[in-house]
Amino acid sequence: MAKYSTDFDWTRDQFHLPEGVIYLDGNSLGPLPIATPARVARAIEPEWRDMLIGGWVKAGWHLAPERLGDRIAAMIGAEAGHVMVGDTLSIKIYQALAAAIALRPERRVILSDNGNFPSDLYMAQGLAKTLGNGTRLVTVAPEEVADHITDEVAVLMLTEVDYRTGRRHDMKTLTAKAHKHGALTLWDLAHSFGAVPVDLSDCGADFAAGCTYKYINAGPGAPAFIYVAPEHAGHSQTALQGWQGHAAPFAFEQEYHPANAVTRMRVGTPPVLQLAALEAALDVWDRVDFNDLRARSIELTERFIAGVEARCPQLRLASPRDPHARGSQVSFHFEEGYAAMQALIAHGVIGDFRAPDIMRFGFTPLYIGEREVDGAVEILTEIMAGDLWDRPEYKVKAIIT
Ligand SMILES: *Cc1c(COP(=O)(O)O)cnc(C)c1O
Repeated sequence: MAKYSTDFDWTRDQFHLPEGVIYLDGNSLGPLPIATPARVARAIEPEWRDMLIGGWVKAGWHLAPERLGDRIAAMIGAEAGHVMVGDTLSIKIYQALAAAIALRPERRVILSDNGNFPSDLYMAQGLAKTLGNGTRLVTVAPEEVADHITDEVAVLMLTEVDYRTGRRHDMKTLTAKAHKHGALTLWDLAHSFGAVPVDLSDCGADFAAGCTYKYINAGPGAPAFIYVAPEHAGHSQTALQGWQGHAAPFAFEQEYHPANAVTRMRVGTPPVLQLAALEAALDVWDRVDFNDLRARSIELTERFIAGVEARCPQLRLASPRDPHARGSQVSFHFEEGYAAMQALIAHGVIGDFRAPDIMRFGFTPLYIGEREVDGAVEILTEIMAGDLWDRPEYKVKAIIT
């Protein structure tokens, strides 16, 4: 009997992967699914070409954010009708945070950790400034978060899986502790969705947001999503009162009246071509079991760590050693990590670098297997053993790392 119910040979065949490249950066930008070009082309021709503005109804463009939101909901243990697709993750974080804060008007603290992604922290700082009522962002070390959840905290805002190290918070335990102190939770699923099983209802999460261009493979600039738990959906405010979140957008009223539930989290016109790409990407996920995905991811990350530690003594593991305490990426510290990553990329292994000294590798079982893991270890060993990274052209910093 096959070890997994998910056919990982089939999933691999659903992607275009350039010849001669080992792609360990699907945690930053997933590769192109085979079905995507035709699906996007269809949204252009015949939909846009022949239907013109009628496409909003006839081609289902207008309701695509809800429709795809429901598909995402089913993948993250959320109730149907409580996930909305649109905008970017930064914007969805801002909206969710503003909604959560408004539900705890007597409190002034947003608690996060100092490893959180900068955009999340910047959004919180900006919102605090806009509120101008003494609301402030407090960040502590990731392992100290639980100890800082007090009755002062309005919102606990965390990214489940740390973008640098892959360290994973315990969503369920932290959410329970936040609730015990009367605080609400906002979970960023950027490095969780498509990487580890997520069950928002089981965790009791209040708000969540995530993106679709990383593990989900919906393409550069693909939209984000937001989740609002059923108990907040009917009375959560949206800081961004766009016309598409209005109860009657085509009544063009002067006054804002929010639409029901999560629909009010829509802002403006949705990106139809990107939604077509997201739809094609989600089709692949219909045939993936998240427990299989997780088991496979652990096999691959364990194999990579063992290989690198045996053969590249210069590199020091930055990710948790316990696979259950990390997501689907593995990071190593190396002082010349930037140059080493440039050398790796020049030799066909694509990972990325995160300041100050982190070499980051994403493991995406849909299209990465043992062969790629072993190939990457082999090339990394050659680069480290021969100091092949020590060349001026690998040390020139690009604008995107
Ligand atoms: C990737 C990522 C983002 C990016 O936000 P965008 O608005 O989509 O650019 C935000 N937060 C986290 C935690 C991320 O990993």
